Amino acid sequence: MKRWTETLLTTLREAPQDAEIISHRLMIRAGLLRKLAGGLYTYMPLGMRALHKLEAIVREEMDRAGAQETLFPILQPAELWKQTGRWESMGPGMFRMQDRKEAWYTMAPTAEEAFTALMKNEISSYRQLPVIIYQMQDKFRDEIRPRFGLIRGKEFIMKDAYSFDPDEAASDVSYRKMYDAYVRIFKRVGLAAKPVEADTGDIGGNFSHEFMVFAASGEDGILDCPACGYAANQERAERRLPEIAPEAEAGAAEAVATPDKHTCEEVAAFLGVPLEQIVKSLVVLADGKPVMVLVRGDRELNELKLRRFLNGARIEAALDETVADAVGPCGSIGPVGAKIPVYADIELQGAADRIVGANREGFHLCHVSLARDAQVKAYADLVTVREGDLCPKCGAPLTIRRGTEVGQCFKLGTKYSQAFGATFLDESGKARVMQMGCYGIGVSRTLQAIVEQSNDANGIIWPKAVAPFQVNLLLLDPDNAEVVSKAEALAAELEARGIDVFMDDRLERPGVKFKDADLIGLPVRVVAGAKGLSKGGFELRRRTDTESVIVAPESAADAVAAMLA
Ligand code: ATP
Ligand code: MG
Repeated sequence: MKRWTETLLTTLREAPQDAEIISHRLMIRAGLLRKLAGGLYTYMPLGMRALHKLEAIVREEMDRAGAQETLFPILQPAELWKQTGRWESMGPGMFRMQDRKEAWYTMAPTAEEAFTALMKNEISSYRQLPVIIYQMQDKFRDEIRPRFGLIRGKEFIMKDAYSFDPDEAASDVSYRKMYDAYVRIFKRVGLAAKPVEADTGDIGGNFSHEFMVFAASGEDGILDCPACGYAANQERAERRLPEIAPEAEAGAAEAVATPDKHTCEEVAAFLGVPLEQIVKSLVVLADGKPVMVLVRGDRELNELKLRRFLNGARIEAALDETVADAVGPCGSIGPVGAKIPVYADIELQGAADRIVGANREGFHLCHVSLARDAQVKAYADLVTVREGDLCPKCGAPLTIRRGTEVGQCFKLGTKYSQAFGATFLDESGKARVMQMGCYGIGVSRTLQAIVEQSNDANGIIWPKAVAPFQVNLLLLDPDNAEVVSKAEALAAELEARGIDVFMDDRLERPGVKFKDADLIGLPVRVVAGAKGLSKGGFELRRRTDTESVIVAPESAADAVAAMLA
């Protein structure tokens, strides 16, 4: 049992100005968290208890899945990161510093390099594989916009696991183990997290799931199929094309004047045609070389899809001068006569009567047939899927929801093991490169995501598994010896059953204690007051209930246990 008067805990009536979302406000107001500086937070004693419970569950499920815990240094030499090229490619998101000898280090934002370098030395034979190792440790990222408290910090706690397997089939088994462990973890901590298909981003590799928590404040869009359960990050989501009636050509392409009309919207309005009839032509640099991409006028190019389609080429915006040199004046460019490679979204296959830029300032071309008038190298899925597009699996219209990523699994293949020469000898004595996977959970983010998902107008509603304590015992008359002794007896009985108790023994008015109990949100509230005890007993209430029940002291422990069961 822990007493409030012996705990560093101050609740606040008001949340600080910068706390934009409910979970951030509640974590501060309930005294779980304090801000040190932007993106940097201190866990207070009650916050620590919840964090420890969450970490214990993550560890238990990792261990159960056969993963072994390790702990790596946070401070890592640049050389390690140079071996994979990420010292450069991670850019300003990585904190960097020098020691007194002017050697460069990073505060690790993730740890693929360090784990792979370790395994290169530890593993020599197929007999030692597979291995999954993990750590639970702080990571550092110089985020463009740290915000929402623990949701996006500069420093945060991550559980990161890495699998090393002799071949792809074994790597798939490891991936599945971690995926299943994640499903169990989020279920146990009372968080509805949905696995969605995801892009592999900077980490690379070829296959990935993100575990998403739906929240209005989420920074990711998730396309969700209400009919079959398909779900994917908007960055990555695919679509099924509706049946498109074959388009007829409408005579030769013809230049029309479109003075000062540059965007697809302006051109469509000026010519009085639907936006879909305009073809949007975009020039970007792929590994430094200009390429043109065509999408329908009402669509947005998805750079991640383009990158994947171009075998991982680095995609960058092209300067206006570059575009002008390569094809023509910005705002009037098009594929007809373009001397650079042209790729088009799959939706444009068969497009036979469209409007494109004429590569001449102030002109567009009408009646363009892409097959006839342009040299399209390939058609591919290159646009961002949006609400109402059809599910790639079942064809039902997709809906879009906002979400926050709490975890991610990646199949990495040999990207890192190759870079480090992490090989082993197989059964026939041949050296082979290990197959890897990596698996992260944002532990601190998860803690706050739980609060974001579980609260009401009065405060937090902690799920039992991670609540700082199970029971909030409100001692209404701390100077009444009989009340104190009955309350302490109940607390001792509960603790003996493994139920942890927090006792509000402050000399405060009952109203203050009730308000704070709702704010802190422990699963069961027990009120011990002279009046109540003289009339029949303790007053018990679940955080989720509106009515209390009166229970005699003898049966109170049973009743509390039943409420927690
Ligand atoms: P995001 O897209 O939200 O920036 P990420 O995809 O860059 O996250 P990963 O590299 O996949 O993150 O890291 C694993 C996990 O660490 C994420 O699923 C997320 O829960 C957590 N995480 C990442 N960045 C932060 C951060 N700045 N603050 C708190 N948690 C984070
Ligand atoms: Mg991620």
